[in-house]
Amino acid sequence: MQFDIGWFIFTSTKLPFLKDTFKHKGMRQQLVTILQKKGIKDQKVLNAIGKIPRHFFMDSGFIDHAYQDKAFPIAANQTISQPYTVAFQSELLDVKPNHKILEIGTGSGYQTAVLIELGAKVYSIERQKELFKKTSKFLPKIGYIAKKLIFGDGYKGLPEEAPFDSIIVTAGAPFVPKPLLSQLKIDGRLVIPVGDDIQIMTLFIRKGPKDFEKHELGEFRFVPLLEDKN
Ligand code: SAH
Repeated sequence: MQFDIGWFIFTSTKLPFLKDTFKHKGMRQQLVTILQKKGIKDQKVLNAIGKIPRHFFMDSGFIDHAYQDKAFPIAANQTISQPYTVAFQSELLDVKPNHKILEIGTGSGYQTAVLIELGAKVYSIERQKELFKKTSKFLPKIGYIAKKLIFGDGYKGLPEEAPFDSIIVTAGAPFVPKPLLSQLKIDGRLVIPVGDDIQIMTLFIRKGPKDFEKHELGEFRFVPLLEDKN
């Protein structure tokens, strides 16, 4: 990327790493290979991860870690999910272009960007005001336009925009919130890590108004899904 020097100095106070170099691209491809080795098969998901500059989503101190398969701290004591977890959840959503998707836990916006890259119309809810503000400004700056970013409590879902083709929860839920199940289309999918200290990744597929298929897909660790806004 070419920068006018003045502009770069100006932006460098806020977004110092908006440079996507060949080195970054190379590290990203290595990350994609690691994810493939760990069992991610969906080529569209792998392409999205190969394309999105994850280092843009992380604070300066962690820049060297952006392409390791690890979760990292972001603002407000939260984390950007591990790339494998993002890929695993994205694969389970079975995203098709123009799918209407609700995300609970916008956080850094990285998972949001992956869903947008997959062609989805994304609605995303975040309960931490600081993160909501930061990510609402940041995502459009790097070209990722969500349908709506909402400051609110994800436990309630987003009834005014329901039903959704799928819903993804990116924080550990102590139980499955009923509104999320009821806001799915028929054949819609809810991907949610359920549990307190350790979560079981759970996929629900809505088969009828009151009929849900449930699949449990292994253990993960997330920051907790908290009730109410701060
Ligand atoms: N998808 C994010 C993951 C962030 S971690 C990323 O890729 O960076 C989980 C996020 O869920 C945190 O930002 C946390 O503040 C948010 N969260 C926790 N409880 C919530 C709730 N009830 N409603 C909405 N967001 C919530």
